[in-house]
Amino acid sequence: MTALLEVEDLRVAYGKIEAVKGISFKVEAGEVVTLIGTNGAGKTTTLRTLSGLLQPLGGQIKFDGKSLRKTPAHKIVSLGLAHSPEGRRIFPRMTIEDNLRLGAFLRNDKEGIEKDIQRAYDLFPILGERRKQAAGTLSGGEQQMLAMGRALMSRPKLLMLDEPSMGLSPIMMQKIMATIRELKSQGTTILLIEQNAQAALSLADQGHVMEVGKIVLSGTGQDLLHDESVRKAYLGED
Ligand code: ATP
Repeated sequence: MTALLEVEDLRVAYGKIEAVKGISFKVEAGEVVTLIGTNGAGKTTTLRTLSGLLQPLGGQIKFDGKSLRKTPAHKIVSLGLAHSPEGRRIFPRMTIEDNLRLGAFLRNDKEGIEKDIQRAYDLFPILGERRKQAAGTLSGGEQQMLAMGRALMSRPKLLMLDEPSMGLSPIMMQKIMATIRELKSQGTTILLIEQNAQAALSLADQGHVMEVGKIVLSGTGQDLLHDESVRKAYLGED
């Protein structure tokens, strides 16, 4: 079986600064795969490249059997790869519901869209309760939920989440993590970037540790959670 996403020797640079220095990993359908690592390790750069927002310097990206080389970002979304970006990037003056609808901009199956909006409200009831309000009135955690809901509106084969727990209270973070678990149990394939290594590794099938543009360690979520070097560097243990 070929993996849903195959990344091979991916290299990405900002001018002369090489931020991603030849990384390889796979995401199988139905899995949650996480990239962890400190600030500046190249995690966000990797996701932005997979989304077509940055052009790679070298390497291969294969998604659902097709090479994504030179594929424009909107085409990548239509192939089934959705990105919930860091810092959320919702549209604050638009209503919550209209933000969700934007996530379905490439679809024209009206009934399916309505169903999926309902599904987002089932997943995140607060969004349903406040559907007609401006999205900017939501709290940080709620905006994160909206960004996830919006990414799901494209019915992605792969959902990429960039730091969904960033800046959230512990309770809100638990909620987001529980939702990721639920999405996984519904069969959604997820590539998750997280600073909170404990939370990410506990729910991931596979994890990769990134340091200065390279993957330095890979394993199952459980293996990495129990790895001594990971515990020291990322889980705050001596
Ligand atoms: P963070 O969690 O802080 O976002 P990250 O692992 O996602 O970290 P990246 O944001 O991918 O890391 O950054 C990787 C490297 O690329 C860093 O050294 C960063 O300073 C650099 N970088 C990121 N964006 C740019 C840019 N637009 N121009 C120049 N350098 C950049």
